Amino acid sequence: MADRTREQSSCRTTDSEGFDRIWAQIDLDALRFNMESMHDSIQEGTQMVAVLKTNGYGHGAVILMKELEKLPYVWGYAAATFEEAKELRDNGAQKPIILLGYVFSYCYDQLIELGIRPACFRPDMLEQLSLAAERQGSPARIHIAVDTGMGRIGIRPDDEGLRFVDKAIHTPGVVVEGMFTHFAKADESDPAPTHAQIALYQHFAGRIRDELGYEIPICHISNSAGIIEFPEANLNLVRAGITLYGLWPSDEVSRVKVPLKPVMTLYSRIVYIKEAGPGVSVSYGGTYTTSADMTRIATIPVGYGDGYPRSLSGKGYVLICGKKAPILGRVCMDQMMVDVTDIPEAEEGSLCTLIGQDGGECITMEELGDLSGRFNYELACDINTRVPRIPCGGSLG
Ligand SMILES: *Cc1c(COP(=O)(O)O)cnc(C)c1O
Repeated sequence: MADRTREQSSCRTTDSEGFDRIWAQIDLDALRFNMESMHDSIQEGTQMVAVLKTNGYGHGAVILMKELEKLPYVWGYAAATFEEAKELRDNGAQKPIILLGYVFSYCYDQLIELGIRPACFRPDMLEQLSLAAERQGSPARIHIAVDTGMGRIGIRPDDEGLRFVDKAIHTPGVVVEGMFTHFAKADESDPAPTHAQIALYQHFAGRIRDELGYEIPICHISNSAGIIEFPEANLNLVRAGITLYGLWPSDEVSRVKVPLKPVMTLYSRIVYIKEAGPGVSVSYGGTYTTSADMTRIATIPVGYGDGYPRSLSGKGYVLICGKKAPILGRVCMDQMMVDVTDIPEAEEGSLCTLIGQDGGECITMEELGDLSGRFNYELACDINTRVPRIPCGGSLG
């Protein structure tokens, strides 16, 4: 693996090791850097939850979990579905796992058995969890979801919400371990709506303390944008998502408060080069036709079937030998063509950087998102399962 990392800085041809068509290199040192960077900036005593939903935002949840498992300030993980959480458990995750969305009752017994904490906000969930806890002979630990401005799942922080919390506290077999809310606008420049959400949450937690006499053990609010911009919302835990991967929640979030390094680099190789005279059309629909006396066209064996956006047809570029090679015509499902006329050193087998740095040039996930009209989160999540994730770095042993 180390050899592979070194070889990637050159554009020389190498023999295939089984993942040369396309591969996502996952830099565990960068992951570690991002975690330390966030941990340094949050309040002492605040622990972290690593949000690993959608296969770790497309980065490979299990690879990342194995590294995060070693960090003492990582309290646990968050996933969106039971199956995601189970995959982490099946691969050795020892820490608690929170499920951030609605969880269907078919898996309640297994949740309890595997120490997975569902978000709770519906009375019928409490009843079903209570029955499952009785069957399992061990308690169901839950995190109550509170809606303070997202309008998504979660009880409202009002009298009815308080009755729900009261019911949860008194449901046999159910343990209210935590309570969380989620920011809707923490990545925007106006802090007022986020301050209002924090105040609503704190007021409600205060009512639970005063009126129900219950101290919620684990309170958490912040997502990535909150970690960067709202230290007052650190509480017991913060939930780090996009920043874990070295990506930014939005353009409006500070890039200097918490330094980050991108974790994923996406690579491929040129598989074919041909020279064409003028008037040759390239790819489906012939949306591009050569005009120069000679155009060198390189085929890259990557397409939208890998999650590489088709909307980059005719406007994206890749990096080859440290230079930009523009995409010619349409991106196909499994292949695309780029112009290497101005990169004479490019040859069949040359390394091709789809996301990441090559020499002085760099294409970030954010840039590729902007170019393709997609959100950086979405782009990362959509990197298909047929793309191997290859870890590199990771020093904790
Ligand atoms: C996805 C999610 C997060 C992580 O969000 P980022 O913006 O990636 O940090 C945190 N909390 C909840 C409830 C989520 O759904």
